[in-house]
Amino acid sequence: MSPDGKSDMSLVVMKFGGSSVADAEKIKACARRAIASRQQGHQVVMVVSAMGDATDELVELAHQIMPSPPKREMDQLLATGEQVTVSVMAMALEALGQPAISFTAGQIGMVTDDVHTKARLKRIDQARIKRELDAGRVVVVAGFQGVTEDGAVTTLGRGGSNVTLVAVAASLGADVCENYTDVDGIYTADPRIVPTARKVDRMTYDEMLELSSLGANVLHNRAVEFAKKYNVPIHVRSSLNNNEGTMIVAETQDMEHIVVSGAALKDKLARVTLSKVPDKPGTAARIFHTLAAGNIVVDDIIQTTAEDKTATVSFTVELSELGDARKVVESLCCDLGCQSTFEDNLAKVSVVGVGMRVHTGVAEKMFSALAAAGINIQNITTSEIKISVLINREQGKDALRLVHDAFELGKPPRKAK
Ligand code: ASP
Ligand code: MG
Repeated sequence: MSPDGKSDMSLVVMKFGGSSVADAEKIKACARRAIASRQQGHQVVMVVSAMGDATDELVELAHQIMPSPPKREMDQLLATGEQVTVSVMAMALEALGQPAISFTAGQIGMVTDDVHTKARLKRIDQARIKRELDAGRVVVVAGFQGVTEDGAVTTLGRGGSNVTLVAVAASLGADVCENYTDVDGIYTADPRIVPTARKVDRMTYDEMLELSSLGANVLHNRAVEFAKKYNVPIHVRSSLNNNEGTMIVAETQDMEHIVVSGAALKDKLARVTLSKVPDKPGTAARIFHTLAAGNIVVDDIIQTTAEDKTATVSFTVELSELGDARKVVESLCCDLGCQSTFEDNLAKVSVVGVGMRVHTGVAEKMFSALAAAGINIQNITTSEIKISVLINREQGKDALRLVHDAFELGKPPRKAK
């Protein structure tokens, strides 16, 4: 104890995803990991997800009752998944001789706004957690859930226990924030598609944000945003071994020598094109307002203007949204007197790296690799740290492998000259 009566032990917050707590044996293995950390002299908070596919099964159950259940009731239902895991995890710890206590969000004042099914965290009553830690217990916190000021149960969006992890780590000032999952860390590309993909040791928050929006499904975007805001390094690692995983950290200058750190494929994309659109102020606003009102999430947008004073506007959407987008756009085109076309066979390949800010030639290298294989680029979009191309879906996996090779991502990074 330090003079102010508070513990001066270091604090580890570790989160276990659904696949890591899928059955009793796996739960016991997680408990042993927490105990090992205690024995090394740390205080430990565990954040856990629902067991295995429990959340999917609950969603399925709700949909057997009605197609679009009230969101408040959906949250009330889905939060039960994590409530099962926390109590069983606390039992597993006790069974191994480690005093433990489990908490639901309501019990530790994990307060959110009232936007059901995608609530945002406002605050956490850290005093309650600290008291238990100082009493020598391992504290097991339900991920993914929250509670409104009025006491209604909320959830943070699918995959949201990562957000709980980072929020708990930030509010308690944790020394280590660990995300245990069924992969070893973040790879330079999806290893199921690119056999030469390599685990990266470090990646910046911004790279991770680009990669997760591109479909590298490891961390929830909001968890990474939160971690960036509060500067909490996240260690993404496997619950099946003791290997070092990937540290997600703030950018440091020495990271700029890695020009490209990863490549990603998003392969269920569709494109909607509106042509002969009247070229006058307010038209684009009207089109995208109508799409937003229909809850359609639009990806890259392109507008070009022809000599006859009409414009062509095209944008990509997830293939699953194409049906809804088609309905909205066809009725819009009736009103605006324009024409619409729909393509459902597209994929997007992207390369990401903070070093792109200071190095040139990245686009050229990527485009040349695709050209040499006869892959036609249908659209190009860029950000400061990302270049993406839209291509035919059948060529998506090959394109990912080609680009991965072109930047030699399978080899350990070298210092750029
Ligand atoms: N159990 C929730 C889900 O499956 C939250 C999580 O796993 O992070 O989405
Ligand atoms: Mg889950």
